[in-house]
Amino acid sequence: MALALTGIGISRGVAIGRAHIIVRGSIEVQESVIPERLIEEEVARYLEAIATARMQLRSVRERIPKETRVDITAFIDTHLLMLDDATIVNTPVDLIRETGCNAEWALKQQRDDVDHVINRIQRILLSTGQGDLHIEGGLHDAIVLADDLTPAETVLLQHQGISAFATEYGGPLSHTAILARSVQLPAVVGVHGMQRYLQDGDTLILDGLHGVLIADPDENLLEHYRLRQVQEERRRSELAGLAQTPAVTLDQRPVSLMANIELPEDIEVVVRENTQGVGLYRTEFLFMNRREPPDEEEQYRCYLGVIEALNGKPLTIRTLDMGADKQVDGAGKLGPCSGNPALGLRAIRLCLKDPVLFCPQLRAILRASAQGPVRMMIPMLSNTHELQQVLNMIEEAKHALLRQGLAYDPHIRIGGMIEVPAAALSAAAFARRLDFLSIGTNDLIQYTLAIDRVDDEVNYLYDPLHPAVLRLIKMVIDAGQHAGIPVAMCGEMAGDPRYTRLLLGMGLTEFSMHPSALQEVKGVINQSSISTLAPRIDALLQSGEADQILAGVEAINSSVH
Ligand code: PEP
Ligand code: MG
Repeated sequence: MALALTGIGISRGVAIGRAHIIVRGSIEVQESVIPERLIEEEVARYLEAIATARMQLRSVRERIPKETRVDITAFIDTHLLMLDDATIVNTPVDLIRETGCNAEWALKQQRDDVDHVINRIQRILLSTGQGDLHIEGGLHDAIVLADDLTPAETVLLQHQGISAFATEYGGPLSHTAILARSVQLPAVVGVHGMQRYLQDGDTLILDGLHGVLIADPDENLLEHYRLRQVQEERRRSELAGLAQTPAVTLDQRPVSLMANIELPEDIEVVVRENTQGVGLYRTEFLFMNRREPPDEEEQYRCYLGVIEALNGKPLTIRTLDMGADKQVDGAGKLGPCSGNPALGLRAIRLCLKDPVLFCPQLRAILRASAQGPVRMMIPMLSNTHELQQVLNMIEEAKHALLRQGLAYDPHIRIGGMIEVPAAALSAAAFARRLDFLSIGTNDLIQYTLAIDRVDDEVNYLYDPLHPAVLRLIKMVIDAGQHAGIPVAMCGEMAGDPRYTRLLLGMGLTEFSMHPSALQEVKGVINQSSISTLAPRIDALLQSGEADQILAGVEAINSSVH
């Protein structure tokens, strides 16, 4: 009999395929004392396990397709380097020799910083052979099931041809979810306990729109979902037809549609979807899965590549937004992790505290601005002192470049992300000091409603239509209009067609989103009239009642315009 499990659909699409479970839980380690005469044998067993792990990783590395993003290959290279590290190779051997502990136990004592690599070796020692993301023969059409996946792992799996994935944990605003949507990989997260009911090789149906995972479907169900796949394909090709159409409302108001990108490679789809430029370039992905941060020159060259590919379209480079769910190895030591990382030293706070990390990026962005239309955007501002500090640093960087005879655009526009309620409430003060604002609803909603964006336990509280959230968004749009500067939205809310009319009616005319959402949102824009929507939305927001707002937005979405 079919079994249906539910979670949170984070990337629409239907997949039918075989389950492939990625086991990654912690491993039970037996702790035992080795008799003295067997100690060298134990050391040899340990060193052999490391050699096997090295061989496995090299083989994975060789099989990665050439077009794979650099951060994925860098991630494997880092693991290979770690396998040569004294912490992994020498210290456990010393421990075995000095204390007579068995190999697994010695390794366990070394595990903190190197959990991933250690898991790999333990599995070899215990001969379970599981947990490798690369599977002989590929994962063509597999529906991957895992506790959780990092963005880097998601791309690696996608390159191996998986058709979808489901995880036990994670939320719709995690960076893995954002990536799944950009590469159009159907996915469901938060399917608690699924690995208790599902087995490797089970036939599964995954419905990413409704957040459903069905095991052991009968022929009727399979037929139903095959039909859904055909409909989804048709929908996608109809939307693709909109790529050459401009985004203009029925009352002839042009709307700017921009793309969010994570890596320079994403530019290809941005150009294909015919967008008006990049409204958010998340540069932290450049710093991931590496030991050292990229230096000024590497960043400059990378930004230059994106500028050239955009061929005259504007590029909004966001300065490093690191911390919380975006841990970045290549940014050096961050010090002890706080108990509330989302409220801690992340994004601009971290950059201001660490000029050695921040200044090369500021210089690289400024230098890039001499080569094309570049804007700089500062994440997670919470007060104007922080902003003033950044503006001072930008001025200093400009002077230094001038002294060195290096070119930059003296009029480069500097914008701020409004993603902290305090910043939204003081949007007017930010608008007076900045050239543009961009509303980051992923964090704005997280901080306004006090819900961790990656915690699926509180995800039911995530609500872009919460009257408090809408009030803050409205304040930012109004502040920008009053100051005569553009206001964009680049959080996931901007790419959700259910909110397009609401946002248009609130006065938003710049949207930036993952490229796969662009045409659908454009379809709604082209069927909407701002002059009709504005008074209706205004009246709706006056009510301040959540239920009325929800009903009102649904009614507006289903009306003719
Ligand atoms: C946001 O917070 O809405 C945003 C766009 O930034 P990120 O998702 O990268 O935190
Ligand atoms: Mg954010």
